[in-house]
Amino acid sequence: GSSRARELAVRGAGLRTAPPGANMRDTMHVAGQQRNHVLWLATRSLRAICQCTPAGAAGATEDATAEPRKIRRVLIHFAMEAEGMPLLAELDTLRKDEAGLPNLPALCYSGTYRGLDVVVVMNGQHPIYGVTSVGTTAAAVTAYAAVRRFEPDLLLNAGTAGGFKHRGGAIGDVYVSTSVVMHDRRIPIPGFEEYEKGRLATFVPDGLLKVQSGWKEGIVTTSNSLDYTPEDEIRMRDSGASVKEMEAAAIADVAHQCGVAFMALKVITDIVDGDRPTQDEFTENLGTAAASLQKAVPMALGFIAASHG
Ligand code: SAH
Repeated sequence: GSSRARELAVRGAGLRTAPPGANMRDTMHVAGQQRNHVLWLATRSLRAICQCTPAGAAGATEDATAEPRKIRRVLIHFAMEAEGMPLLAELDTLRKDEAGLPNLPALCYSGTYRGLDVVVVMNGQHPIYGVTSVGTTAAAVTAYAAVRRFEPDLLLNAGTAGGFKHRGGAIGDVYVSTSVVMHDRRIPIPGFEEYEKGRLATFVPDGLLKVQSGWKEGIVTTSNSLDYTPEDEIRMRDSGASVKEMEAAAIADVAHQCGVAFMALKVITDIVDGDRPTQDEFTENLGTAAASLQKAVPMALGFIAASHG
């Protein structure tokens, strides 16, 4: 009957997503020779194979991207050059990686900082439309290609974002993600309730918020739009999000499937539930936010080098 069909659909949704994740992690493990991660990966692969925490179930949010581990190489992913270039002026020993990423307009820079291998990647200019490739498509393909090429232990998505007055957010606030979620993916088919939200826990370095007492933690919500619809607004409120932007949940999904820890560090350029048009506030505050990221990212890297390096 229909309940059997529903059960199969629900299970099917889990089956489609869990095993490829496990396979990818095994491949990454062998290719990367990340021997110190054997136990961590084995536990996770076993869990995925046993489907104790099937993808799409509530358990998925407790997995993976939040796992503390040894961190030697950090991939810092910005969507926009306007966000990332000031950091490159600060970390001036990083050099442009001319090979870049195959078939993508992404820009890559690499070097070391505080004993960590550091790679900075920015999505670059879209080859057809000639503007910065913001949003989830460019973010996901760039993250995937960069993870495969550089095999980082941590993927740090840094950038600008909207904040929420009703959650105490203000322009210039620095947020560390606790989890990510999507607010514009709607798939009203049984079994897709959790997938559409794509909620994933993220890595919060233990004690970071004690050292950086002015920083905040919060849920980051992602969509492909700078503005939002009434339905988006309901979903953003229900999810408990403090930060709205256009890439984090997509990049976290890639990180999760590749077995790489993920965190987002976002500076607020505009107030989503304020009275000024987002695009005006965003443009006005982009420069200051990038300057703030120029200082905030090295602080986060320094903390991670000391605590997990
Ligand atoms: N017209 C802009 C386009 C930037 S789109 C330009 O080319 O300068 C906005 C970018 O900033 C995205 O990468 C997104 O992640 C982030 N962002 C900042 N504030 C946002 C908000 N309120 N909603 C969605 N994304 C936001």
